Amino acid sequence: MDIFKKCQGGFAQAREARERGLYPYFIPLTNNEGTESLIGDRRLIMIGSNNYLGLTMHPKVRQAAIDAIQQYGPSCSGSRFLNGTLELHLELERQLAQWVGKEAALVFSTGYQVNVGTISSIVGRDDYVITDKEDHASIVDGCRLSFGRMKRYPHNDLTSLEETLADLPEDSGKLVVVDGVFSMGGEIAPLPEIIAICKRHGARLMVDDAHAVGVLGGGRGTSAHFGVTEDVDLIMGTFSKSFASLGGFIAGSHEAIEYIQHTARSLIFSASIPPANAAAALASLQIMQEEPERIQRLNEIGDFMRRRYRALGFDIGSSETPIIPIIIRDYQKTLLAWKRLFEEGVYTNPVLPPAVPPNLTLLRTSYIADHTDEQLETVLEIMEKVGKELEII
Ligand code: PMP
Repeated sequence: MDIFKKCQGGFAQAREARERGLYPYFIPLTNNEGTESLIGDRRLIMIGSNNYLGLTMHPKVRQAAIDAIQQYGPSCSGSRFLNGTLELHLELERQLAQWVGKEAALVFSTGYQVNVGTISSIVGRDDYVITDKEDHASIVDGCRLSFGRMKRYPHNDLTSLEETLADLPEDSGKLVVVDGVFSMGGEIAPLPEIIAICKRHGARLMVDDAHAVGVLGGGRGTSAHFGVTEDVDLIMGTFSKSFASLGGFIAGSHEAIEYIQHTARSLIFSASIPPANAAAALASLQIMQEEPERIQRLNEIGDFMRRRYRALGFDIGSSETPIIPIIIRDYQKTLLAWKRLFEEGVYTNPVLPPAVPPNLTLLRTSYIADHTDEQLETVLEIMEKVGKELEII
């Protein structure tokens, strides 16, 4: 049998959606101007980006990236392990560790690689890794690549987490991994309760703060938000969101970071984060400290939009952050809503199976500190119009 048989005609679902004019993926932007994007010659209000603090547009971040290319060139042409470590990487690691409140940090080339590399490094053959069912795909892939055994508990079901841990052999190594802010629902993981459970069962805790660094806890993340940084063993973050760059980091004790540094295959066998990206992340970290009003504005926008969506009658689940899902629970209607909003000038992201169960299809919306009140009012007006038209509200 030809292994390419499955590729005949491409990908069936994509083809069908394209034929119906409802294909929402890989749409090229002509330009990205933060709160607005150009698609062809049309201008859309962007509520589908993770550029939470708007720093992709910040002149200091842009300049830092340009200067780094001038100084070091566009690539390190090698792994962090060998020729690909610059003093710039070490400076970024020192500052990140301090920012999130850990002894040390290690910078990878993407957030995806952080999760894959860290989990597969720490979780060995006789160990267990325990995850929330809504954890990010990169956590799942890290578990799959590890030699340990994986257990999953229903989203935020702490009784189930406790039972799962209680069932594991007492003398086995256990790592619980949760998203600090869940990337689709926008809820915050209840870390104090999770920590108490981990402690009762001798488990270590890793928190994926991709959507929380730069957003919660004055920008320092979910652990700082709850004041529990001491009790979280590993804090992960990415640069592809609030940091206006690409890359990611893991922070923890000196010992743990040194171990990961010498065993994480996605770090060792992949080229290091390019100088421009490292410099942009470093500049963004500085701006988070110099311009805390951005973080405040972002959270105010989140509070405002959640209140207004609820008042209009939208189902936004349990969101507590600037990630606000518009839960539609119908595959076709979700795609139609995405299309109508797109036509009306609002960019959102449809989230469909297998990313969510069929009864939970949604439009993921997320906000940027630079969104103006006027843009937000326009979004709400168009949302109301489309919501009524499609009988979502
Ligand atoms: N973790 C979470 C929770 C994420 O949402 C993402 C990106 N969507 C990642 C990890 C991966 O980060 P990156 O884009 O930097 O690879």
